[in-house]
Amino acid sequence: MVKILFATHNANKTKEIRAVLPENYSMLTLDDLNITEEIPETADTLEGNALLKAQYLYNKYGQPCFADDSGLEVDFLGGAPGVHTARYAGDECDSEKNMQKLLGALSGQANRKARFRTIIAYVDGKEQKIFEGIVDGSIALGKRGTEGFGYDPVFVPDEADGRTFAELGLDVKNRISHRARAMQKFITFLKESTK
Ligand code: IMP
Repeated sequence: MVKILFATHNANKTKEIRAVLPENYSMLTLDDLNITEEIPETADTLEGNALLKAQYLYNKYGQPCFADDSGLEVDFLGGAPGVHTARYAGDECDSEKNMQKLLGALSGQANRKARFRTIIAYVDGKEQKIFEGIVDGSIALGKRGTEGFGYDPVFVPDEADGRTFAELGLDVKNRISHRARAMQKFITFLKESTK
């Protein structure tokens, strides 16, 4: 068994990756390790933050580690909110406030092109690897749909039929999402490296 550590407290992400992890890997998360502190995310890129989190955990445990970081990049806003996606509307924000701020920033704007991007960083003491997943799309004129989380009601992926992530449902979303795509690349790497 290869032990691998995932720098997350997020139970949904843990479940998603456990379902596809090769059989010879056993994964522990921050909760399994009783780490309650927030790992600092002080870098100004998704790549930087994912690497910070993976490296932090590696320095503590000396085992292969990985971490993920995602963001929404809007063309008209020069790639913002990007690395600030979670707290776009300020420290006291929630998904509703974030979406309202975004819709306001794009009010009357025809160029609504955007993408979700996920970076997974892997560190094992010998090598550092970065895996990227992207889903291209646009920001809707208003919120639609009830499923999912975060910005799902305002994100329309190009490859669907005009519905938002929140209207498409989790089955479809989890097949085409930024996170799913980064995870697929990461899983392929793990399978290759233990052949
Ligand atoms: P994280 O790095 O995965 O925590 O993502 C940062 C922020 O991006 C989250 O707090 C959400 O606001 C947003 N986000 C990430 N993935 C998604 C998604 O699949 N749908 C909607 N919002 C997302």
